[in-house]
Amino acid sequence: MSISEKTIEKLTLLYEKENTTVHFFWNCKDSTTDTLGGCLYFPADTENPFLRMREMELISPEFLSLYDVFCAKLLESTVTPISETDLGTVVRMKFSNDGEARLCNIYVNLLKDENGIVTDMHVNIRPFSQKEEFNAQVLDMFTSDKNPSIFSAQCKDILDRTEEGKLAFIQFDVERFNLINDTYGTETGDEILKFFSDSLNILCEENQPHCRLTADVFMVLKQFDDKQEIIDFIRMLESRLSFYKEIEYRFAFGVCITGSKDVPTRRYGDNAGLARRTIKGNALQNIAFYENDMIGKLHKKQTIEEDMHKAVVNNEFVMFLQPKYSISNNKIIGAEALARWIHPEKGMISPADFIPVFEQNGFIIKLDRIIWEQACRKLREWLDKGITPVPISVNVSREYLSNTDIVEIITELVKKYSIPPQLLELEITESIDSENVKEVVQKFKSMGFTMLMDDFGSGYSSLNVLKTTQFDVLKIDRGFFSEFMESDRGRKIISHTISMSQDIGLGIVAEGVETTEQATFLSDCGCDTAQGFLYSRPVPVEEFEKMFIGT
Ligand code: C2E
Ligand code: MG
Ligand code: MG
Repeated sequence: MSISEKTIEKLTLLYEKENTTVHFFWNCKDSTTDTLGGCLYFPADTENPFLRMREMELISPEFLSLYDVFCAKLLESTVTPISETDLGTVVRMKFSNDGEARLCNIYVNLLKDENGIVTDMHVNIRPFSQKEEFNAQVLDMFTSDKNPSIFSAQCKDILDRTEEGKLAFIQFDVERFNLINDTYGTETGDEILKFFSDSLNILCEENQPHCRLTADVFMVLKQFDDKQEIIDFIRMLESRLSFYKEIEYRFAFGVCITGSKDVPTRRYGDNAGLARRTIKGNALQNIAFYENDMIGKLHKKQTIEEDMHKAVVNNEFVMFLQPKYSISNNKIIGAEALARWIHPEKGMISPADFIPVFEQNGFIIKLDRIIWEQACRKLREWLDKGITPVPISVNVSREYLSNTDIVEIITELVKKYSIPPQLLELEITESIDSENVKEVVQKFKSMGFTMLMDDFGSGYSSLNVLKTTQFDVLKIDRGFFSEFMESDRGRKIISHTISMSQDIGLGIVAEGVETTEQATFLSDCGCDTAQGFLYSRPVPVEEFEKMFIGT
């Protein structure tokens, strides 16, 4: 079958229009297959012939995503001069034959001058013969790099030849791939998986094995000198593969760096998988390196996830209160609500164990509401008993901040218990997404809530968030506080943080105050509110009431 007149016309037109000296041959009879093929010749100053081929709609739509991967890879290789005098790249892709898509070989030859600089580029496109096309399909099913057992043998071979600690197994899959199948149909799902395999063929080096393990799980081997190369490689894969046509998705990557050559390659692969599963559904992180205690951690995470739903039904999540004290008069002026999990068999589980898991799997949304509700109920009870309550601050997880309903949810809650908004303070951890935080904080403030910026000094861009977002109170992070209190320079920074916040009209609370020296220092710097073990640990509500009503 030959490329139609119309395609030739299109191509000729394209290059005539561009007014370049392009030699365009078509109808070059291929000596081996009896198929007509074509050759395009681009002078080196042709900026991006591939993009133009795309713009002219010469590439069949279902192959556009793959075509882009191919082009990106190709363009990269022209940037770095390559040592051989020419580089032949063979890629199988469909090339539009006016509606009819055929698999084609595209050979690209880069001609270099004596300095290794690319001077000319030849693109040779040859459609597959029917026999070749058939063979290609069979190959797709059995080809070595997609067959796990052959993959495994290839890995073993490379492992044996590579220095210890210089080889990584990288396993990845698509987050919630079933959602893609459900939304776009399994046919599209299959297309995407095929796109991954084909793209890996293009993006991986010749001696870099890769394979599809099961469903949407893929594995690639990567030799490296510096760990950063692994991350760069993963980011490259991610940038090329994370959208197909208009569909976007996220990946989770697990990496296992190999040690001894005596360990079966399968184990390294499994460990990469284990690492990948630890970050499944994690909105904040999508690369995990295998560590020795990962099985233990994963097991812990799994049991937490198994138990968490039952825990809600059984009211196992309980609010503890940690008082905030006025340093100058030693009185309780507020409290922070902190979640505790009272497990029927395991006893009290610390938030350090379950909060990170809940943040990953989204359950934090549920937990936060449980604690908010308990805080509101307690405030109502105090009001009903005629006790003048101190405000309770609750933590609002990051997860909520991208959810615009948060303002309604909280307002509904205070309405339900008829609590003045001044009594429920909201602690928000600084976040990168300051745009949204800014809006949410503004809304809450206009309704009379007090907004606290939690963990100041621990994160990404404290000062940036401070600049753009109108918080009422700044809470100095306990890690930051204790570390900075140890040096003269650090204490100066704390002191200036305090005066800076006063300057811009912010209240200030220091967290993790453990010694009287620390309290005195804070007081001297002008910070009068402290929360920490010096005063009290977080305690059950009844205990808090004894302290609070007693003061
Ligand atoms: P956070 O909001 O910064 O809470 C303060 C943490 O510092 C609490 O840990 C508290 O026990 C601890 N702390 C207070 N004073 C001292 C001290 O003097 N020394 C030391 N070493 N620690 C002190 P906790 O209760 O383990 O909570 C840890 C984190 O878990 C909290 O940090 C908060 O980010 C999160 N968390 C707890 N409960 C909830 C909740 O209901 N919702 C959400 N979203 N997060 C929560
Ligand atoms: Mg807090
Ligand atoms: Mg904090």
